[in-house]
Amino acid sequence: MPDTKGLVMVFTGNGKGKTTAAMGMALRAWGQGLKILMLQFIKGGKGYGELKAVEKLPGFEIVSMGEGFVRDAGEDKMAGHRAAAREAMARAREEISSGRWDMIILDEINYAVGFGLLSEGEVLELIDMKPPELHLVLTGRNATGKVTEKADLVTEIKEIKHPYARGIKAQKGVEF
Ligand code: ATP
Ligand code: MG
Repeated sequence: MPDTKGLVMVFTGNGKGKTTAAMGMALRAWGQGLKILMLQFIKGGKGYGELKAVEKLPGFEIVSMGEGFVRDAGEDKMAGHRAAAREAMARAREEISSGRWDMIILDEINYAVGFGLLSEGEVLELIDMKPPELHLVLTGRNATGKVTEKADLVTEIKEIKHPYARGIKAQKGVEF
């Protein structure tokens, strides 16, 4: 076996820490000189610390492709979310086959499938088209069975406690 084998890695589950686990791994990878792209399927917003951080890290890019939070979206908004997901998927295919990156993180892609914006089959196709050396990271709740079957690493982050349950507001540096 060659030393470098691109892995398919999934961070899923109902606890906090999926996107930040991917970011932590990306930081490690960046330190080793790897080129990293994070494509966000559900847009987070502008004030996130990781966006400010990667501006200072050449060879690490984050691209937001979503239309904001999907939860509670009415039918009128669903068309927009679907179109954004289609566009993000097209971009993912392009970037995965480009050979420009050593690690690509598809943030919240599992959530986009769970919400019916993308099909499981499309995600499986993405995994299949991956160059052998590329590390591909998929985050988001409710990763589907076939995606976890195909992955090399799957971690389920389980909620034990979350400060929101006690009414504690989002804290800078922890949530954004
Ligand atoms: P993070 O980006 O902090 O690693 P995540 O990627 O695991 O979180 P998401 O499912 O993307 O979590 O949800 C994003 C937001 O939802 C975060 O603000 C997070 O704190 C919040 N959240 C995640 N899990 C829970 C939970 N079990 N209860 C309440 N809020 C949660
Ligand atoms: Mg997340």
